[in-house]
Amino acid sequence: MTGSVRSTCAYCGVGCGVLLTPDGLGGLEVKGDPDHPANRGRLCGKGAALGETVGLEGRLLSPRVDGRDTHWDSALNLVAKRFSDAIAMHGPDAVAFYLSGQMLTEDYYVANKLMKGFIGSANVDTNSRLCMASTVAGHRRAFGTDTVPGTYEDLEEADLVVLVGSNLAWCHPVLYQRLSAAKVARPAMRVVVIDPRRTATCDIADMHLPIAPGADVALFNRLFTAIYEGGALDKDYLAHTDGFDAALRAAYADKGDTGLDAAAVEAFCALWLRTGKVVTVFSQGVNQSSSGTDKVNAILNCHLATGRIGKPGMGPFSVTGQPNAMGGREVGGLANMLACHMELENAEHRQAVRTFWEAPTVPSAPGLKATEMFDAVERGEIRALWIIHTNPAVTLPEADRVRAAIAGCDFVVVSDVTDATDTARLAHVLLPATAWAEKDGTVTNSDRTISRQRAALTPPGQARPDWWHLAEVGKRMGWTRAFDYAGPAEIFREHAALSGIAGRFGLDFDISGLADLSDSAYASMAPARWPVTAARQGGRFFADGAFYTLDGRARLVPVISRAPAAPLTDARPFRLNTGRVRDQWHTMTRSGTSPRLSRHLAEPYLEIHPIDATRLGLRPAELAEVESNAGRAVLRALVTDQVAPGQVFAPMHWTGETAPTGRIDAVVASVTDPVSGQPESKAAAVAVSRWPAAWYGFAATSSKPAPRAPYWAAACSQGGWRLELAGTNTVEDWQTEARVLFGLPDAACLDMSDVRRGVHRLAFLDGDRVVAALFVAPEPVAVSRDWLAGALGGESAGILAGRPAGDRPDPGPIVCSCLNVGVNTILSAVESGTAMSVEAVGAALGAGTSCGSCRPEIAALIARVHAWEAAE
Ligand code: SF4
Repeated sequence: MTGSVRSTCAYCGVGCGVLLTPDGLGGLEVKGDPDHPANRGRLCGKGAALGETVGLEGRLLSPRVDGRDTHWDSALNLVAKRFSDAIAMHGPDAVAFYLSGQMLTEDYYVANKLMKGFIGSANVDTNSRLCMASTVAGHRRAFGTDTVPGTYEDLEEADLVVLVGSNLAWCHPVLYQRLSAAKVARPAMRVVVIDPRRTATCDIADMHLPIAPGADVALFNRLFTAIYEGGALDKDYLAHTDGFDAALRAAYADKGDTGLDAAAVEAFCALWLRTGKVVTVFSQGVNQSSSGTDKVNAILNCHLATGRIGKPGMGPFSVTGQPNAMGGREVGGLANMLACHMELENAEHRQAVRTFWEAPTVPSAPGLKATEMFDAVERGEIRALWIIHTNPAVTLPEADRVRAAIAGCDFVVVSDVTDATDTARLAHVLLPATAWAEKDGTVTNSDRTISRQRAALTPPGQARPDWWHLAEVGKRMGWTRAFDYAGPAEIFREHAALSGIAGRFGLDFDISGLADLSDSAYASMAPARWPVTAARQGGRFFADGAFYTLDGRARLVPVISRAPAAPLTDARPFRLNTGRVRDQWHTMTRSGTSPRLSRHLAEPYLEIHPIDATRLGLRPAELAEVESNAGRAVLRALVTDQVAPGQVFAPMHWTGETAPTGRIDAVVASVTDPVSGQPESKAAAVAVSRWPAAWYGFAATSSKPAPRAPYWAAACSQGGWRLELAGTNTVEDWQTEARVLFGLPDAACLDMSDVRRGVHRLAFLDGDRVVAALFVAPEPVAVSRDWLAGALGGESAGILAGRPAGDRPDPGPIVCSCLNVGVNTILSAVESGTAMSVEAVGAALGAGTSCGSCRPEIAALIARVHAWEAAE
């Protein structure tokens, strides 16, 4: 395949357009698509590094049954038979699909049709349940439908953007870049960040409200009463709504503590009231809560009461985590939804879908939501489970229990691009799927724009698209005609035609204007925001006061704040927040293969306030143990005042493959929002203690290591691997231990050990070239990790120093992944006075001038130097 291909980034819900140029050798050059409305050519670090993630190392290239490669026919026949047998013996609810927001809409559509229309169960749920199910539930309660009213342009046109529970700078970087640029262009624009942590997003905030975990309802109820008292109600718009009085009574009755200064709350309310054009952006900090749906409705109440919705620069705006979480919502990928925003509980909708699909049945009751599904697996009620492109053994709360439940299931199928995930290792059948750059279909981003994902690379081995896996099993289960698809264009047309029926019911998700696309028109389809009908394309919703409830009026929902479900106790006094890092994605099966991305934060960590760290005797870079009644994790201590005392934060990305004790969701209890079923991933009650390491180690190696230390975390590097290690027991013979670690029984070894001090430095050679090195000390090892990783393959002279010679500067940990600029380089430019602003650092070093994702970190480094100077 040659020439440039227009496609969509594989990562977050911003949905940036990319231009992919194959190099003819299996690689890709990736650039931002200047014509895509989401990004206009911009990309963040993750998007820019996509080309580094398309290699075939670790790819699953053929179907596998019980660990042995096999042919497609035998694998698919087995899947069909085991699902059919389970259904025949135990009924349709004895099987389940667990899907992913990584899947394309066409894949999702076929999965949903197979489960809900033909198997006859609604047991199909998705990892989007962990991401934005509370938004779906909140939208449906208020609007009668799950619709994001506005567009990305609203963030740029607003005079006030309020970011609630959203670290936009790291999690939706290009949208953050658009917001930053708008603020530079219009300095009067105000940005407020509401987040317990001081995140990178606060770099552009005029006001940061470090709210108590879970207190968003209390704050927005306070705003709601201020709107009432301040005369900011839009009485004409309220005529299109119901529930104002009850919502107001609830707001006054809410005595929840926001954890904020009263003056700060008053200032926020006053700013909100006097600024007409307000957009409230919310994300996982709102959704991942045992009161997530109420939080969403508390926000929507304020916008509905003021009529600030669906107009340029005004409205509530949910940003989704995954590239196609929205597409999954549209096809009914959640257990409590039917296709095209039709409702399982509505008999007319069910009949219409059943007739359209010519299906034997459509269930009337919702299926099992994600955590319920794995509880049912644990109880043995789910006899056959198909998991597609997701890693529930890592990402679901109480992940160790979920991992054991999957291991105990009668029959587990996993469709994925690799067998090296915690979940894939538990599968009876592995089905090789096409990877991002080989896929063909559509995705929908956070502002309802449907974009094409186009294949730029030929699928390797026997990899096949997910829709094909599902359709082939459907045919083998006896439904040949219903699943006899020629390709994604035919599936898309069917989905679009079904949406026309939804439109005739008066529902909003209607893309029937695309139902007659020819194959070639589908191939060249430009991004389009739904709805797409003969009468309408795109635009905003709800400015006219027309809603999708039975009476056409919106609902203001009375809500009262609740504390997080797990109370803090003397034994577990810390509130654990979890989230994402800038340069990694989910469980790192793709982003973790990019050496560039792995250089930013290469190890799982725990942010903890200096006061708490001192009290616990925990020094920076030592290891901390985090424990709850669900499980435990061991993480590197990152002592920082970005978290408040009593709170800790840990990223969600590390797995049994990359850091077995870093699986933070093993610690998160399985508590869910009663309406949405979304787990409370950001407010576990935990104990934190110093992990009693007897030694710490750092290793760099050109071949995959085999660590057996009780603590390890591995990351890929240019030409090899880098590894953090620690243990609680003394190791007698470090050279023998290192030979096992590196798989180098006979290699020549340079050994510089001081046994008395417990310091060991070893390098292994192939000829005069270094192939591995290990540094051990009783305290966290102080070596230049990037330099050592880069020294592999070079001459051995000076390697045991662990850092470059004095005449060569050590760049330090990487801040700018795009241009490879490290912390030390930036600090010395700032300290020398060469660069005193983010722009000046960019001009001097290039850092922050490509994707811009690191600009908040550069700003923080500059601020750190200013603070040092002020203290001198
Ligand atoms: Fe991809 Fe970054 Fe755009 Fe998200 S913001 S879609 S990760 S390029």
